[in-house]
Amino acid sequence: MLDAGDVVGRDVVDDVADVVIVGSGAAGATAARVLVDAGLDVIVLEEGPDPRRHALRSDMYTSMKRTWRGLGMQAAEGRAFTPVLQGRCVGGTTFVNGAIIHRMPEVVHRAWEAEHGLAGVLPYAELERIWDTLDRELSVAPAPEEVLGENNRLLREGLHRLGVTGNEIRRNVRGCRGSAHCNQGCPTGAKQSMTVTYVPRAVAGGARVYAECEATRVMVSGARATGVVGRFASRGGARGPAMRARARRAVLLAASAIQTPLLLAASGVGRRSGLVGARLQAHPGAGVVAVFDRPVRPWFGATQGYESTHYYAERMKFEAVGMPLEFAAARFPGVGPAGMRELGEHAHTAIWGVQVRARAHGSVGRGLFGTRVRYDMTDDDLQVLRLGIRRLCEVGFAAGAREVWPGVHGVPEAIRSLDELAPLERIPPDPRRFHCIMAHLFGTAVMGRHASTSVVAPSFETHELAGLHVVDSSVFPTNLGVNPQHTICSIAWLAAERLAGRRAHAS
Ligand SMILES: Cc1cc2nc3c(=O)[nH]c(=O)nc-3n(C[C@H](O)[C@H](O)[C@H](O)COP(=O)(O)OP(=O)(O)OC[C@H]3O[C@@H](n4cnc5c(N)ncnc54)[C@H](O)[C@@H]3O)c2cc1C
Ligand code: SF4
Repeated sequence: MLDAGDVVGRDVVDDVADVVIVGSGAAGATAARVLVDAGLDVIVLEEGPDPRRHALRSDMYTSMKRTWRGLGMQAAEGRAFTPVLQGRCVGGTTFVNGAIIHRMPEVVHRAWEAEHGLAGVLPYAELERIWDTLDRELSVAPAPEEVLGENNRLLREGLHRLGVTGNEIRRNVRGCRGSAHCNQGCPTGAKQSMTVTYVPRAVAGGARVYAECEATRVMVSGARATGVVGRFASRGGARGPAMRARARRAVLLAASAIQTPLLLAASGVGRRSGLVGARLQAHPGAGVVAVFDRPVRPWFGATQGYESTHYYAERMKFEAVGMPLEFAAARFPGVGPAGMRELGEHAHTAIWGVQVRARAHGSVGRGLFGTRVRYDMTDDDLQVLRLGIRRLCEVGFAAGAREVWPGVHGVPEAIRSLDELAPLERIPPDPRRFHCIMAHLFGTAVMGRHASTSVVAPSFETHELAGLHVVDSSVFPTNLGVNPQHTICSIAWLAAERLAGRRAHAS
């Protein structure tokens, strides 16, 4: 593993391998693990730093500065500005994510086969074989009672009292101590992110990972991708060297559904369909705060340990979210003395989120000031969000909350009974009234059989450029309605196996 500090003073770093992968997150690290296992020589370029090179600090600001994209300030433009949260470090977003593991719902898979021309392309039985292996290698298991914490338990209690089903979340952790720090990067290495699993495994197998090295364009010779050019980050005021990573066999883009289409566009790919960067889909979500007389101490417990997919068919999912105060404070409504009072309540607050399987389509492209993401929830999506918020308020009172903060403009900031939630039914479907974020992203280089209606062929190779493959959630025809990491890993795994020409062994 090399980063910008290791190449200071050089003009160019030149390397060659069978496969060059851009991105070391869920998709890139998994592909590297499979390809190295199959005996291929692999290079990985990662724009962000290796978080293991610095002592981890637990505050959110330091974590965001070092490991989140744009300090966590990247936002989609629409009627409202919606934060688009992503990791930017070795291990990608898996380093800062909540460790929630889900398999792709069968109903989504059936729709991909029946409505999006992918019949037989990603066989469900194949994916199940891969999920079983991922479960084993990433230590996936339901959150145990001893690290659940009150934030998760109260969600369980409230749902149970209302007869709504829920479950302890299946998480990719080993020896979790319930520090509720997953979004800052696990301080003990318990979370089995790509940073501590498949990246080191690939390196041990001979992969060269270049951190702090941004890929800027795919190299092309004739009608074939032959590598990637990029540049290392500056050090001490000196410009970082250029990177030239040549690929004997293939280039794999795994830079996420936001950055992969940018690389495709910068490399001149996708003009035929016009779909590069189009059709961005997401699971926008918002949080509700429930305040209890008894202590909740949300800083203890699995960051995300309890969830409900009871209303999956209605396009919503609930989950507990343990957050540090500096993050949670964004959802505390008051300012001045009221704000101070609310901060004082932190020990008594539980935070739960609703995420929506939205129908909206956005886009990604280059604007005047860099990456430009556009996204607007449809009115229909906003109705689902509104209903989800209402239901979470009900769960709060069912769990015994003294008051609930719905976080919707036009509704009282703190309500003490459901009657006070009446204005929620009357507010217009306007995204500016909600505090949404987007963290699950899909569909910006969609897979399909025809070059005029898709960017990537069922082989994962782009229709327009031989040797160039896309293996992240950019290829997904739709969103999932559940947390995507495991599905992304399985699709990248399948793509890598096909490229290698053989099945990967499980460890
Ligand atoms: C706060 C948060 C919590 C989440 N919690 C969960 C959860 O609990 N469960 C779940 O299933 N999902 C969760 N997700 C989503 C999940 O982590 C992502 O969907 C998944 O990691 C995406 O995988 P990816 O490989 O496409 O992208 P990433 O994991 O984001 O990796 C892409 C990598 O590519 C790098 N890159 C980008 N452009 C370039 C370039 N030009 N050159 C070099 N490198 C580049 C990036 O720096 C990044 O490291 C969460 C997301 C967030 C933001
Ligand atoms: S809850 Fe804490 S100990 Fe457990 S995986 Fe997350 S950060 Fe690590």
